[in-house]
Amino acid sequence: MLALQKVHDGEGLELRDVAPPLAPGPGEIAIRIAATGICGTDLGIEKWGAGYAAMMSTALPVTLGHETVGRVSAVGAGVTEIAPGDVVVVNPAISCGHCAPCREGDAVGCLDRRPFGMVLDGAFASQVNVDARYAYRLPGTIPLELGALVEPLSVGLYALDVAGFQPGDRVVVFGPGPIGQGAAVLAKQMGAAEVAVVGFRDAARFATLRALGIETLIDASEDGAVDWLKALSGRGFDVAVEAAGVGAVVDQALAVLRPRGVLALAGLGEPNAAVNIGLIVRNRLEVRGASRIPPRIWPQVIDLLAADPDAFAPLITHRMPLAEAQEAFALARSGQSSKILLIPEE
Ligand SMILES: [Zn+2]
Ligand SMILES: [Zn+2]
Repeated sequence: MLALQKVHDGEGLELRDVAPPLAPGPGEIAIRIAATGICGTDLGIEKWGAGYAAMMSTALPVTLGHETVGRVSAVGAGVTEIAPGDVVVVNPAISCGHCAPCREGDAVGCLDRRPFGMVLDGAFASQVNVDARYAYRLPGTIPLELGALVEPLSVGLYALDVAGFQPGDRVVVFGPGPIGQGAAVLAKQMGAAEVAVVGFRDAARFATLRALGIETLIDASEDGAVDWLKALSGRGFDVAVEAAGVGAVVDQALAVLRPRGVLALAGLGEPNAAVNIGLIVRNRLEVRGASRIPPRIWPQVIDLLAADPDAFAPLITHRMPLAEAQEAFALARSGQSSKILLIPEE
């Protein structure tokens, strides 16, 4: 079968013809992949930053792709919750099961994670086997391809969760990429009083946000944009989400929060930023990190998708065959797309 793999250290990815997986082992399910989204993480793995090398070097070659949906084709011994024919999505945060946090039941804190699509073979292929405990059944009312959005939406929902989001809150999201778009539409669907998104020369992504019903869009490249945002916020936003991965955004976010407001950092970009500590102290602000999605978030995302699938559909802007993965990655890097799905051949 065709698979998009990281084959060796250094930049690049390869489309290769590889053997399909064997029959699923005990506790595993076999999935026939319907669609898999391209994530910023996949772009990072293609470029091969130091963090990826440390985690993945010993796992190569490995098939990428973790934002996936497909239909179960077979189940291994002992699998009772999932049956052939079910549509499933995969939580890629697969833990080792052996380290101290895992033994204490804290799989999210695992010290030796084996993420699906990074260390374990993922879903830029036509078939994959996964541990059934990491698969979630998708209701038939959700159009199949929207299942590929569950993983990226879980990142956005967890950022809102970490920030203590409540219905009626005023929310500002920095970064209009797929994660920021997801956080914005989720906040809207959950009853935010206001949702604003700040970008930087992101016309194409702003068009997607408009299609998602997000009207307050601020281009930070324009003079006075942050002042305008401050004026708009009045007393200040209750919640800010940083999904741009840009250090300078942190101070902008702090400046538009109300006293006791919360900033959730979901972007993994520049590790260092100059921060106005005085503002945090005076306004009693809180800055919280949002990574490693707890499993409880997954059913919440699936319920929100099931409640109003059409509200999320504009997040997907492109569908391309897996054989055109290189072109699709270039498009993802261009900022001219939102979520791009790669579709394997039958
Ligand atoms: Zn992802
Ligand atoms: Zn572990």
